[in-house]
Amino acid sequence: TVYLDHHATTPLDERVLAAMRPWLTTECGNASSAHRLGSSAAAAVESARIAVAALLGAHDPDEIVFTSGATESNQLAIVGVALKARQLRGARHVLTTAVEHKSVFSAMEYLVEHHGFTSSIVPVDRAGRVDPATIAAAVTTETAVLSTMVANNEIGTIQPVRHIADSVRDSGVALHADATQAMGGIAVSVDDLGVDLLSLSGHKIYGPTGVGALYARRGVPMAALLPGGGQQRGLRGGTFNVAGIVGMGEACRILTATREEESIRTAGLRDRLQSALIEMLPDAEVNGDQENRLPNNLSLSVPGLVAASLMASLPDVIFATTSACSSGGESHVLQAIGQRAEPGTLRLSVGRHTTVDDVDYAARELVSAIRAATGSVMRDVH
Ligand code: PLP
Repeated sequence: TVYLDHHATTPLDERVLAAMRPWLTTECGNASSAHRLGSSAAAAVESARIAVAALLGAHDPDEIVFTSGATESNQLAIVGVALKARQLRGARHVLTTAVEHKSVFSAMEYLVEHHGFTSSIVPVDRAGRVDPATIAAAVTTETAVLSTMVANNEIGTIQPVRHIADSVRDSGVALHADATQAMGGIAVSVDDLGVDLLSLSGHKIYGPTGVGALYARRGVPMAALLPGGGQQRGLRGGTFNVAGIVGMGEACRILTATREEESIRTAGLRDRLQSALIEMLPDAEVNGDQENRLPNNLSLSVPGLVAASLMASLPDVIFATTSACSSGGESHVLQAIGQRAEPGTLRLSVGRHTTVDDVDYAARELVSAIRAATGSVMRDVH
């Protein structure tokens, strides 16, 4: 089986599993307990916090809040900051782009439905990029949070986050970036991007599922959504998921050491797969921004194809049609870029363990299955 769905989730790295194992078995203390096992768990959590901060170039590890994943990080960033901004300065508006992950849209919808906010969604161009000037023009004095992804989970397009940050700098709006997909592929530094808040997730970077982090710059006023027992500066309570957090920290350490080299390798594999498919399927169109794109992403639309049926006929090649959460439904991302061959779209994403043989095998299998499928569509039509 060739796994080409790293945007949906990545396999746990063996080194991460090894780092987590003691915290799932012998090292059983609660990180908030006063005894010896409690303090060693607390030290492990703080060491992981330092590793996440280092990967992001955050100056203070206390700016990292561990969560249950990027869904929660996005919710905490958007809702937590918006509710505080309403309390402090009467803010009532939130703003985002048309290609965000559903968890960003639903955080905003929650503010609209339950807290009387209004929200605006800024369109993107054919490549899926948002124009910094357009988004800056949509910011008002009432805007609490502007949320933009760093890179898209379907078409891999990388947003001009730094330019967006520069264009809204004087407005007082808090800038949140969802870097969930970007982390594994490109350098992500909170200072270079100029963001106040940034979300990431363990299971997209060869760490465990069910753990994530939010970078929250010091001084950005924010309400807690789960204050619980007051852990993590009161921003996110609950007994620490020590093993998960240790795994997240180890995944970040490995990324810091290997990301640059790995991105070159995965881009090579992606390009090889792309060339093989495009050469054999001349009607196919590559989606996303060809210059500003994640190194492991290939989104391909084939007119006349129904990608969901292709999936069933090729059980040995694991790929996606759109994103995992909109499976079976329509893709708001492909609609936002005006891709009309939406049902014929394949999302292929290579990763850390993908080999040249894997992509060559996948290309051969995909080409023959797509030819057979589109051939039969043609016959039906005529
Ligand atoms: N944001 C983006 C861009 C994603 O791709 C995903 C995962 O699919 C998420 C957020 C949600 O992450 P999690 O599964 O950790 O909640």
